[in-house]
Amino acid sequence: MDTLPCLRKSIVLNELDGKIALVTGANSGIGLATIRLIAEQGAFVTAIDREQNDIVHSKLIDPFVCDVTDHKRLKVCVDQTIAAHGRIDILANIAGIAFYERMTESTLEHWRQTQAVNVEAMYALAKLVVPHMIERKYGRIVNISSTQTIASEPMVGAYAASKGAIDAWTRTLAVDLAEHGILVNAVAPGCIHTAMSMVNGVDETESDLFKEWYVKQRKIPLARPGKAEEVADAIAFLCSGRCTYITGHTLVVDGGLTITF
Ligand code: NAP
Repeated sequence: MDTLPCLRKSIVLNELDGKIALVTGANSGIGLATIRLIAEQGAFVTAIDREQNDIVHSKLIDPFVCDVTDHKRLKVCVDQTIAAHGRIDILANIAGIAFYERMTESTLEHWRQTQAVNVEAMYALAKLVVPHMIERKYGRIVNISSTQTIASEPMVGAYAASKGAIDAWTRTLAVDLAEHGILVNAVAPGCIHTAMSMVNGVDETESDLFKEWYVKQRKIPLARPGKAEEVADAIAFLCSGRCTYITGHTLVVDGGLTITF
């Protein structure tokens, strides 16, 4: 029998009651929307970003200032969360950066920086968090990929490579950790309106090309950029106890962008 709509809403609202989450990239865009949503659903969130941000502070959201490339500081963050709450149920790796440059103009330094923030940090955090999840035989890990792993554009080589690594690593980790009750998935957003849609000072979702090709010609069938909250919804589902038989999957959230020619 189907659940009544009002009952369904209250189930979703309390869905993460008592869960302890650690989320990176928490100060803006998809990370901020995610911590707000999962705290609303009852989780306590350690919210990691590289600068202090007063907006995120609440009873259920504890900001932790940390550059995710600083692995010693990540350890302090995990240790403090474990000391305060005894466990970490959810790890959402959302922090990410991109340099927009053609391969011929790109630098090894930018390549390494991109991998350090987008890939190595989630490896470092998993190393720190997974032993605690194994102890409790429960965990949900969500990594943020991108549709750049499916369809390619110029200027984002290092970024696309990092996201491809995330997809492959998500699948491997899912296989590695399945026996411990830990589910590992990724979310691949398409064009989402956040600070990252600013390319060299221009909001790409406001460009003539975007309006004509992606919206008017419906390269994106849903004919608009996505909202951070729409990606957060997918992340929150994969973080939740309702997600019980999905692991190693990359869930595309792109308004249909990657299904069109
Ligand atoms: P955003 O608003 O720029 O959010 C990224 C967040 O990560 C920012 O709060 C940023 O802090 C933080 N961050 C960056 N480097 C960090 C570091 N070294 N240590 C700690 N925090 C760091 O962009 P977003 O669109 O929400 O991006 C979130 C994720 O979605 C990223 O992984 C991105 O690759 C992915 N994604 C986005 C889109 C899109 O269209 N927006 C599409 C596909 C995938 P600062 O503000 O200090 O830089």
